[in-house]
Amino acid sequence: MQLPKIKIFDEKNKILRQKSSEVSFPLTDKQKQDIKDMITYLTMSQIDEEREKYDLRAGMGLAYVQIGIPKRIFVIVEELEDGSFKNYVVINPKIISQSEELIYVGEGEGCLSVNREVEGIVPRCARITVQAFDENGQEYQIRVREDIAVAFQHEIDHLNGILFTDRIDKNNPYKDIDKMREI
Ligand code: ZN
Repeated sequence: MQLPKIKIFDEKNKILRQKSSEVSFPLTDKQKQDIKDMITYLTMSQIDEEREKYDLRAGMGLAYVQIGIPKRIFVIVEELEDGSFKNYVVINPKIISQSEELIYVGEGEGCLSVNREVEGIVPRCARITVQAFDENGQEYQIRVREDIAVAFQHEIDHLNGILFTDRIDKNNPYKDIDKMREI
């Protein structure tokens, strides 16, 4: 696999604080290529050999704004149990329902734009239903749960200029931990 030439912006860059704008269809060839590149990058970052070869950090999600384009697109690459990868291309997403149950990632959430250790937990809904468009402009609905639900909420935050670190209470990073389930 060839590593795509994409540059991921660090949290210090103000663009990550911008609210991304809605995407119109059809996508441009550049946008389609960028989506492919983001998927390839995330896939390679989850394959040990490629990750070591290119000195990558493992990541499962990437929002378009993280490569410098504040449009409402994100991709998620999920490694399945059989070692294959499932891709999600999510454009102009809207959360249409969410569970009351909250979860958090026990080892802490990570972000390819946050290159430091962050202490604390991020409360997320255990399940959400999202309405969105795919790269062909086809509308769809998807219900996601557990780690994929966390990834969706993390990426939707990016589209609104929010980083996971914003959701951690600085004075009490483990606040309300007993009201949530660890995943
Ligand atoms: Zn992130």
